Formats: sequence, structure tokens, C-alpha cells
Amino acid sequence: MNLFSVVSSGNLEQCHPYLQEVAIRVLEIINIAVDCGHRPQVDQEKAVREGKSKVHYPHSAHNSCPSLAFDLRPWLPQLGVNIYNTFDPKVAAIWGQLAGVVIAVGNEVAKTRAEWKRFSIIWGSDWNGDRNVLDTNFLDYGHFEVKIGGAHGNG
Ligand SMILES: [Zn+2]
Repeated sequence: MNLFSVVSSGNLEQCHPYLQEVAIRVLEIINIAVDCGHRPQVDQEKAVREGKSKVHYPHSAHNSCPSLAFDLRPWLPQLGVNIYNTFDPKVAAIWGQLAGVVIAVGNEVAKTRAEWKRFSIIWGSDWNGDRNVLDTNFLDYGHFEVKIGGAHGNG
């Protein structure tokens, strides 16, 4: 049985209950870490400086309380920091596999509560949610955010 670390649990607690439910169900399928939930202003501007986000505070889905985004990471300790070496096709495949599971689980969780029925998951490598990553110019493999009806952000 996969379990969240204390850090992952703390990050997940900052997220919208829908995202919490999604992460709990994803964890039953793929071992994951939750690297970021809510991102306050100082951290958002740092993320922009480091090229990890394209939008200034408060325009990221991470900036709301509860957070409408989380950054997940496949928990594969044998890979270490190489999990970010997406030039390795196996590593890129690992991220794509995670994204497919998160999106599918997101659709299932949306059916469990009336107030979530318009919710779905936008992946940070498919910002327009058209299920075609070939038209994406900013790949943020671990980023997932709630799409409510039509609105979604950019990091
Ligand atoms: Zn993110």
C-alpha cells in the first residue's frame, strides 16, 4: 500500500477537497509525492524567475486558498533527480503515464459530488485540455489543476 510522506500530506492539505480526493485515488494506482499545493506570493515570483511558472501572483491556480493546483511527482527513488530528465524517453513516458491516470481519476471523482460535476483536470503539458500535447509550448509535467467549466490558467 502506497502512503504519502508527511511533506506530501501537508502539501495536499492545502489543496481543494476535489484535488485531495484525486490524489488519494491516484496513490492507490501509482506511488506519488505531492511537491506543491498552495504557493504564496514570494514562492510564485520565485517560480516565475526560475522558469517554472509563466504567470505572476495571484494568477496561478496554486495561489488560491485552497489551492486549485498541485504538483505531483512519480515516487521512484531509484531515479532520484533523474525523474526530471525528460529527454530520456522512459522518463517522459513515466510522466505521461501519471498524467493519464490523474486525468482519468479526475473524471471519476467529478462524478462523486454534485458540486464537482463540472470539474476536470488540466495537465501542465496540455494547457488547453485538447488531449494533444503537440500544440503545447510550456511543458510542466508535474502540474495538474482543476478546470471548472471553461477556465484554466498557466502555471
Ligand atoms: Zn504547478
